[in-house]
Amino acid sequence: MSTQDNQSSEARREPEIAARLRRLRHAMVREQIIARGITNARVVRAMARLPRELFLSDALMDEAYSDGALPSMDGQTISQPYIVALMTDRLRLEPNHRVLEIGTGTGYQTALLAMLSKRVCTIECHAGLAARARDCLERLNLKNIEYHVGDGALGWPDGGPFDRIIVSAATEHPAAPWLSQLRAGGILIAPIGRANDVQTLTLFRRGGFGFTSHPIIQCRFVPLV
Ligand code: SAH
Repeated sequence: MSTQDNQSSEARREPEIAARLRRLRHAMVREQIIARGITNARVVRAMARLPRELFLSDALMDEAYSDGALPSMDGQTISQPYIVALMTDRLRLEPNHRVLEIGTGTGYQTALLAMLSKRVCTIECHAGLAARARDCLERLNLKNIEYHVGDGALGWPDGGPFDRIIVSAATEHPAAPWLSQLRAGGILIAPIGRANDVQTLTLFRRGGFGFTSHPIIQCRFVPLV
């Protein structure tokens, strides 16, 4: 077969692959998200549109819509779709919200936040992961994201206030800068507990006189370093 034939058969395969991945994505949304009780239309619609395979290495493309976390670069993970959906749902995002994300990772969660709010400020400590995530998010033409490489435990360099804060790495306590950068009435969601153990995904709300906290579900995240 000539090189030209090869190229045209490659090109012919691409729409088939895209169609198969779209079917898998819609099945994931039905079976892993809606069937488990997440019916918020904005969250469901965004998850049905966002191609998770873009955030994975080619070798993992067939796993893109499987019901679990997957490895990303540097021994980190891309979270299970259900956990991403649950965190996004419980944030109750509104189109005018400013959101702070700790732990950009692959950028999959960042993309959903950007699709559902006004502005996302995201912090990642691994420069390589941050660069790869930024590349994916720019290819998706998401322009309402600010990136920072550094220690998320210090909060956003220019301060808040943020309407919502989402933490994607396990910590025993919410860091003080997050609490002070959350506006009154704001929500913070973080996996609280020891690294290398089960944590409790916890929702904190800033009230007039301090914080309330509510457990959401048991989970396992990589540690905040
Ligand atoms: N939601 C992400 C998963 C993030 S995994 C996704 O779906 O892809 C957690 C991320 O937090 C990792 O990329 C890790 O490098 C990052 N991280 C851990 N400690 C951090 C810290 N102190 N500051 C910023 N990022 C941190």
